[in-house]
Amino acid sequence: MTESLRFERVAKSYPTEAGAVEVLRGISFRLEAGEAMAVTGPSGSGKSTLLHLAATLETPTAGSIRIGGEAAHDLPERELAAFRSRRVGLVFQDHYLLPQYTMLQNVLLPTVAAGNGRDEGDAEERARALLERVGLGARVDHRPAQLSGGERQRAAIVRAVINRPSLLLCDEPTGNLDAETAGAVADLLLELHGEEESALIVVTHSLELASRLPRRLELRSGLLDEATPVPLPAAGD
Ligand code: ADP
Repeated sequence: MTESLRFERVAKSYPTEAGAVEVLRGISFRLEAGEAMAVTGPSGSGKSTLLHLAATLETPTAGSIRIGGEAAHDLPERELAAFRSRRVGLVFQDHYLLPQYTMLQNVLLPTVAAGNGRDEGDAEERARALLERVGLGARVDHRPAQLSGGERQRAAIVRAVINRPSLLLCDEPTGNLDAETAGAVADLLLELHGEEESALIVVTHSLELASRLPRRLELRSGLLDEATPVPLPAAGD
């Protein structure tokens, strides 16, 4: 198996005027390529912090994080930004699509940011195929304001997988959607994750979404509790 992500005794604290706030206290886990895991826990338990650390947007106070075997946090900032664009796909509760760009342009932004010299024609072809695949084929030239919340979140997912990241990280990806749309967006996320073979982490307070992932970690007081893995429902269920 190929290792996608490894946390070893990772701690994170934030300095504040009232002293250091210890958010994570020595967390260890390993995620293989193709694996999917939910991170749950009460509000303020450090779920977003864990995701931001995995995304290299934050640096651990102690311990080590490896992404695809690489100690990415040790890279200089410029290289780290390119690494992040190539290897990590991010989906947040808000779609963060840029309003002045079309859906196609939005989805292509990470291919520019990755600076990997890939053929632009190939990237556009893949972007169009993925947008078609998620039911937005007729919307490629529309701007985000012309789309519904669910459509925007589908485009945000396409943008997150456009560079075939080894790690797909989602923070409350269905948090702003009604139940039906949330279900459809979760379907899409799991389908694309399966096809792309990235490792997937979904931070969510939705037990319904968490129960759809084969592995679950629960954060309590800055420490992890790994829930008993539940089998995925068989296809077609
Ligand atoms: P969750 O996603 O589970 O709600 P977070 O990871 O957002 O939790 O936050 C965990 C804790 O860390 C909270 O108590 C929060 O106030 C604190 N925290 C997060 N970011 C900072 C920061 N930059 N400075 C100080 N405290 C922070």
